[in-house]
This record gives sequence, C-alpha cells and structure tokens, in this order.
Amino acid sequence: MEQYKCSFCGDTIEIGTGKMFVKKDGMIMYFCKSKCEKNSLGLKRAPRKLKWTAKGSKANARPKGQSSKKTVSKKENKREKK
Ligand SMILES: [Zn+2]
Repeated sequence: MEQYKCSFCGDTIEIGTGKMFVKKDGMIMYFCKSKCEKNSLGLKRAPRKLKWTAKGSKANARPKGQSSKKTVSKKENKREKK
C-alpha cells in the first residue's frame, strides 16, 4: 500500500481521499484537502511562507535552551583547570 504526502502542507493522505493533480508539464501534485489545492493553484502561495504547512513551520521554528547549559559547563571546566 502506497502512502502519499500532500505536496503543499506535507500531511499524509489517507487512501481513497484527497486529489491528485497533474500539471501540463507532467508534474504530479497531491492535495489532502481543498484548502491546500486552493492555496497552491488558485492563490499561488508558497508553502514556505505559511505557518500551517510543514515547510513553513520548520523554517520558522528555532531551537531554544540547548546552547545555554553547554556554555555554562564549559566555563566551569575552564575555571577548574586554571
Ligand atoms: Zn495538504
């Protein structure tokens, strides 16, 4: 059984649902819901610029609280060595 991902928002499409759109140039696009179809074909929006898509949320997300602990431990080690 093949599972397709929505080419706009990135969600997995259940078998028997959604829409497969083939462009004139042969490019195949899968849409999970009419919202994705309208945004990409009708409104011609880029998925990077929208928060509700997987591509947009990944680009906007920033890792927090990882570097602070490491820097503190490095400083402590340096003080102990001196
Ligand atoms: Zn979608």
